[in-house]
Amino acid sequence: MYLSKTAVLSAALLWLNAAPVVAGTAAADAVTAEPATTGTSSTSVSALLTQVHQCSATLQLRSAALTDSQESQICQQLSEVEQRFQHIFENPSPVSYDGNHMLRANIYASQPQYAAYAGQHFLMPTNNGGMYLEGLPHQAGNQAEFVAYQHAGGAVWNLAHEYVHYLDGRFNLFGDFCANLHDSHAAPENCPRPAPQSPYLVWWTEGMAEYLAHGDNNQAAIKLAKEAGFALSALFHTGYESNSGSDRIYRWGYLAVRYMFEKQRNKLDQMLQFTRNGDYPRYQALVLSWGSSMDEDFALWLQQLATASSATTKPTATSP
Ligand SMILES: [Zn+2]
Repeated sequence: MYLSKTAVLSAALLWLNAAPVVAGTAAADAVTAEPATTGTSSTSVSALLTQVHQCSATLQLRSAALTDSQESQICQQLSEVEQRFQHIFENPSPVSYDGNHMLRANIYASQPQYAAYAGQHFLMPTNNGGMYLEGLPHQAGNQAEFVAYQHAGGAVWNLAHEYVHYLDGRFNLFGDFCANLHDSHAAPENCPRPAPQSPYLVWWTEGMAEYLAHGDNNQAAIKLAKEAGFALSALFHTGYESNSGSDRIYRWGYLAVRYMFEKQRNKLDQMLQFTRNGDYPRYQALVLSWGSSMDEDFALWLQQLATASSATTKPTATSP
């Protein structure tokens, strides 16, 4: 999931309020400055996204204009992400009651086409760069959807990041988006207010999606490591609406998750036992029990990461 910014426009909300309610997990990552518009045509999604390509048992592409070569590239890229995920979590089993066996990636031909049609097709805001819709994974017939568009030149942004959200939701986080810990109330889920109190899981969901998408090569995040801007104990309280911001959510989230993988794997595994079972109160108690005990080591690790990266030159990673 998975909102990067609280940029949902009131016009989109009003429109959604008039539409049938659909619950799901929304990932409005990489919000752009483009205005939201609502299409007036009633063209169905299957009439517009006519090309269906099955990458694997776990991934289907549905698009308006992907070429054969682009389809192959996307399948290959996401297959590698899935293998990394399976490897790092040691071939986990799906969480109980999760029926999201396959992700369908819906790719519009352009941003204008996305803005005109995605709202009516998926009942979601389109003032963003793409959304992951987990839906209600315990319900029969639920279909997990990623919705995005091709940029000039044909590329689809954020695919790896969003695919990790799908895998994380299926293997690490029990329940649907509203069941997990965050403070987003945005459409299409409109999770109820008030939100649970922090610590949330935003640092984990967004940071892990970045970590699996970029691996060790995330120069934008490593550049921030030099600033030592946050204590680890503070990052556990990152939200979408409070204690938020793109750098904090994505880049500091990446740093927190990478540190936990590299230096605190036992603690991470203990935490995942709780999130996989939906025992979110115990997750929160565990994180609070850690307190500031890892802050000093995290600060030291950040310094080492920054120093090591100064000694090498790598291409700059793209933003989420
Ligand atoms: Zn995300």
